[in-house]
Amino acid sequence: MSSNPDYLLYAIAANETVRCVTTVTTNLVQEACRRHLTWKTASVALGRVLTGAALMASNMKEMERLTIHVEGRGPVGTISVDADAHGNVRGFVQNPQTDMPLRPDGKLDVGAAVGKGVLHVIRDAGFEIGFMKDAYRGSVPLVSGEIAEDLTYYLTNSEQVPSAMSLGVYMDRGSGNVAAAGGFLIQVMPDVTEDILEHLEKAVMHAPSSTELILGGASPEDILNVALGGLEPTILARKPLTFRCSCSQERAESIISALGAAEMESMIAEQGQAEMTCHFCNMTYRLSVDDLNRLIAGAE
Ligand SMILES: [Zn+2]
Repeated sequence: MSSNPDYLLYAIAANETVRCVTTVTTNLVQEACRRHLTWKTASVALGRVLTGAALMASNMKEMERLTIHVEGRGPVGTISVDADAHGNVRGFVQNPQTDMPLRPDGKLDVGAAVGKGVLHVIRDAGFEIGFMKDAYRGSVPLVSGEIAEDLTYYLTNSEQVPSAMSLGVYMDRGSGNVAAAGGFLIQVMPDVTEDILEHLEKAVMHAPSSTELILGGASPEDILNVALGGLEPTILARKPLTFRCSCSQERAESIISALGAAEMESMIAEQGQAEMTCHFCNMTYRLSVDDLNRLIAGAE
């Protein structure tokens, strides 16, 4: 684990015609991999989606939530991630024990692990005065399964904001731990000038990969300078990022309780307990006979 806490920066540049978000997510991704016991290729695939979601959720407000489902038909299965406005990110991969042969260039083959399929993104406005505001939903075909390219395609085509994204997760070959993770997102507004566009294209093309930068000790500030090729940004926000799930023992109890008294009676008779595992964080909640009897008494 890196001793530096994860965070992201949200910045604007070139008279507000460019916005740029940069992040280091090494600890967040390592925590996700530790909880889900992922193998290398699955770790990188999940880590890229977690990092991409953090970048895309950077300008959300209070109750808003962003959800990404990468529904590929490859061996890793579906990857689901969500992020809130406060820097809490969580997610899981359907088949965490997935590894693929390395590509000819020696890199982990995330595209083959994810495969062809569909990318769904949901921007949920959250609850407001008792009702749920309409969510924005968009779906696009997966372009490569390499995640950054797929999310860029989604942002540019579905949300209609020209975007460039870089995502990287580097696994330590020996320990299998996450040695570096992070990335950046650049988006341009309709009134951006041709000169700025050209400048950004060159900067992005010549930028070392995010993992190379982070392995070399780069902070989100350093990544911001590299991604914008020296354009002078104004940093608007700095937000800590954490892998954090909203599940709890109380929530598990209310879900079990909703099954009804008869179902809980049969859990006592057949298993002598009830067990629930949260998909998002792999935490298991156990309810004893006493817990179940208490819930049954409450239900009657
Ligand atoms: Zn959970």
